[in-house]
Amino acid sequence: MEQKNIWNKYDEETLDKVNVLSEEYRRFLDNGKTERECIDETVEAIERAGYISLQQAMEEGRSLSVGDKVYYVHMNKSIAMFQIGTKPLPEGMNILGAHIDSPRVDVKQNPLYEDKEFAYLDTHYYGGIKKYQWVAMPLAIHGVVVKKDMTTVIVNIGEDEDDPVFFISDILIHLAQEQMKKTAGQVINGEAMDLIVGSRPLKIEAKKDGEEGKDTEKEKNTPERDAVKKGILEILKRQYDIEEEDFLSAELEIVPAGKAREAGFDRSMILGYGQDDRVCAFTSLKAMLDLGITEKTVCCLLVDKEEIGSVGATGMSSLFFENAVAELLELCGGYSALDLRRCLQRSCMLSSDVSAAFDPLYASCFEPKNAAFFGHGIVLNKFTGRAGKSGSNDANAEYVAHLRGIFEKEDVSFQTAELGKVDVGGGGTIAYVLAKYGMNVIDSGVPVLSMHAPWEATSKIDIYEAYRGYIAFASDADLY
Ligand code: MN
Ligand code: MN
Repeated sequence: MEQKNIWNKYDEETLDKVNVLSEEYRRFLDNGKTERECIDETVEAIERAGYISLQQAMEEGRSLSVGDKVYYVHMNKSIAMFQIGTKPLPEGMNILGAHIDSPRVDVKQNPLYEDKEFAYLDTHYYGGIKKYQWVAMPLAIHGVVVKKDMTTVIVNIGEDEDDPVFFISDILIHLAQEQMKKTAGQVINGEAMDLIVGSRPLKIEAKKDGEEGKDTEKEKNTPERDAVKKGILEILKRQYDIEEEDFLSAELEIVPAGKAREAGFDRSMILGYGQDDRVCAFTSLKAMLDLGITEKTVCCLLVDKEEIGSVGATGMSSLFFENAVAELLELCGGYSALDLRRCLQRSCMLSSDVSAAFDPLYASCFEPKNAAFFGHGIVLNKFTGRAGKSGSNDANAEYVAHLRGIFEKEDVSFQTAELGKVDVGGGGTIAYVLAKYGMNVIDSGVPVLSMHAPWEATSKIDIYEAYRGYIAFASDADLY
């Protein structure tokens, strides 16, 4: 069975829409390089579309009815949004889920130090990265510093053209004889990924004669200890009003500096950071915003911590989502434990995450009959996992059949794929977490080339087709 390239299925007018969508997508990527930034961007967009927070709905004593739109943000890193359908909630929802965390390099809690007149921020990388890809390139710092008085300083340095950028050094090739013998996993050591943030010593005026604590002869002749670090601390104090100890309660994420770009002479692709999984987050969100009235209540879930196993209070394994649905039931006429369970088990989900796109230069890692190709549309992964499907959610055949029907009816082009050849590797998504409620879940999404690299690539036409697929799925009333 052959799956086809879909670029030529569309007329010029539709291709204009493809370009408009991908331009909007690039702005989404540029404005959301961390999970917190994605949440801010999402809340802004959905509030413009008439969404109100669950909290506000509760405070105003509202009872929700068909077409009402509410959202719940958890710790500024995960969000669940709902559009109420005509059918009662216990009949289940259609859920679009994606993750908004991406592989990156995080700043440690006690990070700032000086070595041989370079000031560094010590780091610990987040998610699965090839460490050697992150050195010797311009990097930006995004995040928050929360001070003891609970004021939050928002940090975003390295994106404006006038901003400075930061970098991690690599040893020059001339002296890399030993390094080049190492296997790729060891070429860059995790502790050698510290970020260079300065090199200019603070000028410290010598104390004058008669002044208290006058410098000794020895002090006068030795350069000030950690003067570069002190210079950085002075800048941090002046520009951000933060002290060294404020790093203790900061979340600073180091990401590639710069904007997402169109790629190729034909501008058919997008090259940008964090497309795993913001490409599915964006298309799910966009589908959510463009829905008409639906029969099933539709939910869009954008969550944190997928890249490290969906753990933590803001990851999919957290009960925040179940709690939000419980609150929703209450606002829709009354919570009961049984209704909550019925609602969740009868829901259907597209666990939307990126697929590994077939890479002809690494063809041996793929089995082409069951691989995702650029330009072939939205991907359905019946299962992911590794070595004997371990760790996978394996979608039910009946569910896959139903989705085939929906996509065919709406002329959505889809392809089916596995994550690479059997026994060459693997991976997981948030699918298994929702599946524990007993609901139908399948992995779906957009193929990505160079996944988890600082700059990942996608095809514009796949982004458009995913968006159409999500609308078709969310609008369907017959699932379950
Ligand atoms: Mn992912
Ligand atoms: Mn990933």
